[in-house]
Amino acid sequence: MPPSLQAPGFYPRTSCPVCESTATARIYTARYDEDPVRALVDSNFSRQGVIDWDLLEGIAFEVDKCATCDLIFQVQTPNEAMLEVIYTRMITARFLDEYERGLLTLDQFHRIAGEFTVLFEAIGKHPADITVLDFGVGQGRWARVARGMGATVYVTEIGDDKKRLARTLGLEVIEDDDIDTMTFDLVHTEQVLEHLVHPGRDFARLARAVAPGGLFKAAIPYRGKLEQLLTTKGLPTTAMFASGGAKAIPGEVEAFASIQPLEHLNAFSDTTMEWLSAKNGLKPVSQVRRRSVSFDTGGPRALIGGAKKVGVELAKAVMRPKIGYHLLRRS
Ligand SMILES: [Zn+2]
Repeated sequence: MPPSLQAPGFYPRTSCPVCESTATARIYTARYDEDPVRALVDSNFSRQGVIDWDLLEGIAFEVDKCATCDLIFQVQTPNEAMLEVIYTRMITARFLDEYERGLLTLDQFHRIAGEFTVLFEAIGKHPADITVLDFGVGQGRWARVARGMGATVYVTEIGDDKKRLARTLGLEVIEDDDIDTMTFDLVHTEQVLEHLVHPGRDFARLARAVAPGGLFKAAIPYRGKLEQLLTTKGLPTTAMFASGGAKAIPGEVEAFASIQPLEHLNAFSDTTMEWLSAKNGLKPVSQVRRRSVSFDTGGPRALIGGAKKVGVELAKAVMRPKIGYHLLRRS
């Protein structure tokens, strides 16, 4: 049924959405219309848009864990019409425009270009010969940089506004179905897989679309000790961006954000990603987000600044920071 004819609502996942196993166990149960979930949803969405509490009345917030692939997932899943409510009314275009504009900084540009430099070098082709799929392009924060570096960048997205924006950025807008008949040197997913209603099915489709020797980048929220936190402390009442951080245990707010109600329907562990990679013929390359660093040569102070950036990147490579980052390759 088209979303316009459907009433916004939820349906339960009756098996693991990654591996289809029914060997799942409930690790958390609450209600959307009671705290802590109500307060958490309010804290997360009230600055981004409008919350229609009628749609959440009596809805359970349930979290299951799969014994087979280790995925932790939200059981009650928004239907198409509810997804439209979440991504157009609870998160408004106006909020997103301002948020994304705030991130189009020179520093972010260098970070993204530095990461694509590493990825393109690993692919080993002239940039103009590299094809990229940016799955769920959003407002093109990543894709526009890859395009600027010379790659041909294909993108998918829901919603006409984002598609129109992508075209103005020189990106090749394709339909979701097109993925099944194409291959790409780099399949790029940046904070996308956690949102998917059918993560196992879509991961397989994306993995198939990686050309021989090509790369699949999956950047996802860090799950950390989510299970332990949920079972001992339950959900917090404030969202990640809203927590001051002073009292937060390192890694804790990120772990809770990996199961953000309504949005982050899937929380992947390293084990889940290993299961998905093995199942779909991909080999792990790195769990560190590596990037080349740019230097400003305008004097000693600028050079010291550049050297500091190098130090930070080298330390990350050694310490393997707690982030959800998986670079995979098809042989
Ligand atoms: Zn599973």
